[in-house]
Amino acid sequence: MAEIIDGKALAKQMQTEMAETVKSMQTQVGRPPGLAVLMVGDNPASAAYVRNKELACERVGIRSFGKHLPATASQNELEQVIQALNADPNVDGILVQLPLPDHLDAIALINQIAPHKDADGLHPYNMGKLMRGEKGLQSCTPAGVMQLLKNANVTIAGKTAVVIGRSILVGKPIAMMLLEANATVIMAHSRTVDLKAIALNADILVVAVGIPQLITADMVKSGAVVIDVGINRVTDDEGKSSLVGDVDFISVKAIASHITPVPGGVGPMTVSMLLHNTIWSYCQQYGTKYN
Ligand code: NAD
Repeated sequence: MAEIIDGKALAKQMQTEMAETVKSMQTQVGRPPGLAVLMVGDNPASAAYVRNKELACERVGIRSFGKHLPATASQNELEQVIQALNADPNVDGILVQLPLPDHLDAIALINQIAPHKDADGLHPYNMGKLMRGEKGLQSCTPAGVMQLLKNANVTIAGKTAVVIGRSILVGKPIAMMLLEANATVIMAHSRTVDLKAIALNADILVVAVGIPQLITADMVKSGAVVIDVGINRVTDDEGKSSLVGDVDFISVKAIASHITPVPGGVGPMTVSMLLHNTIWSYCQQYGTKYN
């Protein structure tokens, strides 16, 4: 039976440690770190995510600079907000909450964020650094996955890692991070022929697709480490709604060596890595080392 990788516990522990760092840095520099989350419109899921991030900031002592704009906001208005945040010395991290309404160009907006304040690690400058294997701001969910593997003492070097999903947000950056950690990385995606045969190679299997329980026990090698990034809301026959991952947790748990649950696995780590990135930018500004 697999060991459950508890992301909730690790995220909490990280936040306790970050609160200590913030406290001591603030005494030295005279201001707390600041994170600006830019939200457009009233998508309830986005509003809940933003609230969650703001509460986590509060716990750690990071000041929130929430910017909530109406769904009708123009590209130009948003660019001006980003420029003002880029210039604000109290703001260390800027995040655009996705998805944005259809009339807005998310990529163009992310490109406007000053790379040293790019808390989500999605700016081409930071993605380029990741590609080159250089230290920089890294995308929060994949960085959280790497922390989970590290904390669970999973050996990565020399192992075969299969990443299913090739998004800019998760699949591609996690593949680069695993490669940097000396895994042999295979990427699978929607056009992969025979996903099962590919997945069965994995010593470390990372699934970021968005299809409930796509990965079943027959697709997983015995003793593999399984990281489930997917978050899917499903409704059962009695109309009860719940969250499930991309992995069939019950059956895969029986053969994997380690597995992340959904919820309580990768999800909580994403928020902690966002706070981590904000503190990293803040410390960089004052020449203090922070890993
Ligand atoms: P995305 O839609 O941008 O990308 C999905 C990827 O899955 C694509 O690259 C596609 O090629 C691949 N894919 C689609 N169908 C496939 C199939 N049948 N077989 C193999 N590959 C297939 O999604 P995303 O933003 O990368 O998110 C993926 C999942 O992770 C979603 O469920 C999302 O909610 C979740 N997510 C979770 C967190 C977190 O904090 N835990 C963060 C981001 C995303």
